[in-house]
This record gives sequence, structure tokens and C-alpha cells, in this order.
Amino acid sequence: MMLHDQQFISFAEATAPLFVGVGVAETGLTVGVLDDRGLPLSWGVVLPGTLDCLEDVLRRTHKAVAEVMRQADAPAGAVARVGLALPGTVDSFFGKLTDVADPSDDGKKSLCERSAAVCKLPVSLANDAVAAAFGESWVGAGRSLSSLVLLMLDARIGCGVIFGDASIDGLGSHGVDAAHMIIQYGPQAPLCPCGQRGHLQAYLSPDAVADRVRQSLAGGRASPLAGRLDQGQAATLDLLAQGANAGDPVSLEIIAEMARYLAVGIVNLMNTLDPDGVLLSGAMTFGGSSTPLGRQFLQWVKEEVARRAFATLAEHTVIDFAALGSDAVCYGAAGIARADHRRRTARR
Ligand SMILES: [Zn+2]
Repeated sequence: MMLHDQQFISFAEATAPLFVGVGVAETGLTVGVLDDRGLPLSWGVVLPGTLDCLEDVLRRTHKAVAEVMRQADAPAGAVARVGLALPGTVDSFFGKLTDVADPSDDGKKSLCERSAAVCKLPVSLANDAVAAAFGESWVGAGRSLSSLVLLMLDARIGCGVIFGDASIDGLGSHGVDAAHMIIQYGPQAPLCPCGQRGHLQAYLSPDAVADRVRQSLAGGRASPLAGRLDQGQAATLDLLAQGANAGDPVSLEIIAEMARYLAVGIVNLMNTLDPDGVLLSGAMTFGGSSTPLGRQFLQWVKEEVARRAFATLAEHTVIDFAALGSDAVCYGAAGIARADHRRRTARR
């Protein structure tokens, strides 16, 4: 079997110890077993369910981990640590969740301790976007970069910042919420789902794009998008991409505008963090490097960054697509578990 051009290795070929990465989402748990070099032994997407109850998520995680371990023919003792990546704000220092409902939190045991008790293995926690950034840094498009910012451009913008083998996310783990950096202020700026105005998310969500299409058409612009909207099709990213691919100037204009807003956000990140690279993933990359439109989108982003950033930053900062897609979360969760394991064993 292949995973992102990566051949699965057997337990005999693996370099000890092993790490398990778990990415938790509404669509299910993605679980992977990786060796010490980040090579996969087994992978599975299992057990969809709600994220309403943390104890339930943990029980499903335990079951899923046992299943991929069985597929990998790996004994339980071969795994040094599990990395659990969750949506929302994860206070990795104190091992607490601040967004996902956690009704069973009695304050006596940290989430890490409770996870470890259910999974019967030591557990490290991370936010899913931070984990994805770590995955790209460890075995993905950021392998040769010493520091990177990953922007996951889906319905919700996720962001992870990795310097060396550490994520930079601040005291309360709110420090990398690039979705809510301010691009414009004032009463005219569009409303962000968070209730504030002018945030990056307010320009780069499917809803924002749909609004922008409607605005353009209401202004009297001729576009094949109008007919499609009249037929009841939602102004989704796919529709916009189809328009752009057919040469529709309105679609191309809106995508170029999205690239410019994204570039403003990227320049803010470059000016404050000066990372080696900024990587982009998600639906709003229009297919990434595998489509002409994706490559054009990246080109527009780079051109706007070059116009706005300090010359030296524009010159040395790599801006590119991420490589691991949605598997990055799982790779990174295992990678964060590995980094934790190494820190703990080095201290002994
Ligand atoms: Zn916001």
C-alpha cells in the first residue's frame, strides 16, 4: 500500500521506537503508526462520531490505536508514545482543552493523564493545525526548513508555527491563530465569524467567497457564474475554479483578490516571525501544485508578498504548497509524541 508516495514498511524494517499519531475530526479518527524516522507501518481512517464527549473520543482512540497496531503486526510495547491532535485550542502545557466540551474534567487529573489512562500509553496533546505544521516540518514539504508557518486554508483557517522541533503557540496556546489577524479595520471591513471585523478569515472562507461573487454580480458584471447561481448552485470554490479554468475574468479576479489578502497575512507573519518558509494547504489552494490554477494562485501570492515584504525577507522566505495533505495532522501528532519522548528520555 502507498500513502502519499510513501511505501508502508514492515515491523521488521522499522527503527525503534514506534509512535502513533491520531488526528481527531468530525469525519473520523485518522490513526497512523510511524517508526522513529517517520516511516509509516500502518494507517487507518476509522470510527466517525461527534466530538461532544471527550471520554468517548478517548475510548474510540484507544480502540483505533489497537486496530492499527494489529494491522502493523506491532506489539503494544513497541510504541513509546501516542500523539493526539484535536481541533480547537489545546493548552499543551497544562494538557487541557479550552474549546472542546470536557464535562468529565474534575480538575484533579490533567487531560494527558486521563488520555494515558484510557489509551494505556503515554499521550501528548496538540491542536490539529499545529500537528499538521509539525508533520510537514518532520517529513513533508518543510523537511529542509529550520522553521515554518503552515496555513491550512479550509472552511476554517488553521495555522501552525514550528521552530526547530517546538511549536510556537504562546502561554494559552492561542498564539498561532492567524485566522484572526487583522487585515483591515474600521466599520467597512467584513465581519469575521468570530464577531470582529476585518480578520483574515473574513476574506478567505467559502462564505466570504460566495458573498464576493454575489457582490460582483450585483455590480452588473457579466459572468457565466451568474447563470450557474441562477440554476441554484452555491457559489462554492469549485464553481469559482470552474469559472477561472474557463477563462471567466470575474472568477479570476476574485481568486487573485483572495491571493492578495492571503499575501497580506503572510507578510504580517514574515515581519513578526521571520520563518524559513510559509506552506499552504487546504481547499483554498485550488488543487495546489497539481493544477494550473493552483500554481497561478501561488504565483499571485508570491507576487503580492514580493511587493509588500522587506526585500531580504521576500528573497529568503520559501512560499510553497504543503506536501502531506490531510495526513499531515497524523504524521505531526506522531512527530510531537516523538519530540516529547526524546525530551523526556534526554532528561533522565
Ligand atoms: Zn475573527
